Parts: sequence; structure tokens; C-alpha cells
Amino acid sequence: MRKKYLLAPGPTPVPESVLLAMAQPVVHHRTPQFSEVFKETAELLKYVFQTKEDVLILASSGTGAMEGAVVNLFSPGDEVIVINGGKFGERWGKISESYGLKVHWINVEWGRAVDPETVKDVLAKNQNVRGILCQASETSTTVLHPVKELAELTRERDCIIVVDGITAVGVVDIPMDRWGIDVLVSGSQKAFMLPPGLAFISLSEKAWRFCDDARCPKFYFDLKKERKNLARHTTAYTPAVSLITGLREALALIKEEGLENVFARHARLARATREAMKALGLKLLAPENPSPAATGVYVPDGIDGGKFVKYLRDDMGVTLAGGQDHLKGRIFRIAHLGYIDTFDIIIAISAVEMALKRFGHKVELGRGVGTAQEILLEGFET
Ligand SMILES: *Cc1c(COP(=O)(O)O)cnc(C)c1O
Repeated sequence: MRKKYLLAPGPTPVPESVLLAMAQPVVHHRTPQFSEVFKETAELLKYVFQTKEDVLILASSGTGAMEGAVVNLFSPGDEVIVINGGKFGERWGKISESYGLKVHWINVEWGRAVDPETVKDVLAKNQNVRGILCQASETSTTVLHPVKELAELTRERDCIIVVDGITAVGVVDIPMDRWGIDVLVSGSQKAFMLPPGLAFISLSEKAWRFCDDARCPKFYFDLKKERKNLARHTTAYTPAVSLITGLREALALIKEEGLENVFARHARLARATREAMKALGLKLLAPENPSPAATGVYVPDGIDGGKFVKYLRDDMGVTLAGGQDHLKGRIFRIAHLGYIDTFDIIIAISAVEMALKRFGHKVELGRGVGTAQEILLEGFET
């Protein structure tokens, strides 16, 4: 037997009570019973998004909501700024170009956060820019971008900030209304502790005004239509009934823990992981602006990162993530978002130590674990 542990930045583990909620018989979606579930779920989503606006629930992976944002807010020929500091930043640009938008790419070195001053300069030189598209947490490089500062740049101008919060919402404090975020997107299989299959999107009043004259073609992801249906506690097309039933339970768990505590837990797990990796003499991918969703670590010289991650997964039963594009084979990522707690992190760090030893790297077993334990103990101080 080999017990399995999932510590990848999506999909993430699903709590037992959520699995059980989803195992219930499927109810028809045009019924008062389902409308009640849907209504409660939509309310709880507002709490997690920290907004008074509607949060729409789409049956798609997170990318569906990203595409939905682009097609509902903009028109072919519109100019947008894309913060491209990793795979997901690049995705904003690719979606935008697919629909004929003119993209001003701001390329950021992988592992670094964008400097708001750079964005400010590009905005100053391009007065027609109608949107800034960025990630809050760029999962591919484990970086946190300065969304609050970027949002400020869009005030008092005909420009909106569109944020992919797929590994940020429910992980780190990203108060949509307070920071003036115009569009915030997330997905089910990250901090929402659900299987893949749902995406969420919320728009500010300013963003809804952009929808009125957006001319990109669209059909399934018609946000105005979804908003009208949401007001009647339903969806335009068949919702993912079981996932939404699970979502209500997952959101109730988040509310019960309290957002502040959820953020503190993620911060603690992330810090413990980073300090453990440093104690093992390993180099972090994002030392300056690390995301609390996942920690990226360079594989030591002489070790093939692809084989390392595969060994952890297939021989040890511990699924971490590798690197993408030019970081392929060079890094591994330990995710600590969603249904992850103290001892999941201990398992991950312990497995990394053991795998390093197996790959012939000089490592003092227990060094990283001990470092993490000191930090994780803070979570028990009451
Ligand atoms: C996972 C992820 C996505 C993509 O979501 P899919 O559900 O795979 O479509 C987009 N952005 C970020 C930051 C992510 O972590």
C-alpha cells in the first residue's frame, strides 16, 4: 500500500464533509430546493470575495471565467496591459489576442513581482488603455503581485483592473471592494477545496458599465445574462448541481474558520515551508514576494527536477508540482492552499528531505522538518 498525499496548486484535497455533500442524489436544478442551495451559496461567496457585488458561478475551469472576463468587458481593438510574469499572466494575453484586443505586454522575470511604477509608465504613454489584466498570485512562479497598488492606477480613468485571484481568494487578504478591484476571478479546485469544474467571477459597478458596450463575440459566458438569472436564484444553463452543493459546504467551512484565520493559516504554512527549504540550503524561486498559496524551490544542481517530482509522486505517494516552460525540471512547488494544515506540510517537507537523500544530495534529515515545526507550533498557541 502507498498512501497518497496531494500538495499541488490545484487540484487540492477536498474535505470529507464536502465529499459527502457532493455524494447526495442529484436534485433537479429548476426547483425550490436547489434555488435555496444556490441562493445560500451565492451569499457565502460574497463573504469570501469580500464584496457586496454579485459573484457569478460558472460551470467551467478557472480559465472559463478569465475568457468570460475578456469577452464581456472589451471589444476587438481595445488596448489592455497584461502583466506577464508566468504561465497564467501569459494566458491573459493569449485570450485577449484571440479576441483581437491590442495587448501591451509587461514582461516580468519569472519569480519576481511587477513593479507598479512600470505599469504606471506604460499607462501614461498609452492613454487609451482600457484594462490592466494581472494575477494576484501567479501560481506558476509562486509570486504575489501588488494588486492593491495596481488597482489604484485605474482610478479616475476609463480603465479597469481585472484580477485572476484563482490562487489568492481564500488564501490571502484581497478585499475586492476595499481595494477597488473591478473584476475578480477564482476557481473551485484551489482554495475553495472542491474538485475542478467551477469558476467564479465578480464585477464592480464600473466593470458592469464596461459590459454595456463590449462587442467581443460571446454566447455561453454571457455575464449579463448570468447576473439576471442569479437574481432569480438560478443559472442560464444547467448548473453543476453537485459541485454547487459541495461549494455551499466548503464555503460554510471557510466562514466557520473565519477569513482572518484562513489567511493566518496560509501565511503560517507558507512561512514554515519557506524557512524549512532555506534550512535545507535550497534556493527559493520567489524570495521577495512569495505567494502564500505555494512555495517554489530550485532543485539542487545535478538533480533532474522532473525525475525528482516523479519519484516523490510515484514512489513516495507525495504529489508536488514541477516547473513549467523554462523552469521545467529546475524547480518543484509545494502547495499549501485550501484543505491543508500543519501535518500536511510536515509530510511534504519530510518527503522532500528523504527524496533529496535518495537522489544523493547531502542533506541532514529532519533539519527542514524541525525548522517548520518551530513555526507551525505557533498555530497551537491557545
Ligand atoms: C489554476 C490557475 C488558473 C487556471 O485555472 P484552470 O482551472 O486550470 O482553468 C489560472 N490562473 C491561476 C493563477 C491558477 O492558479
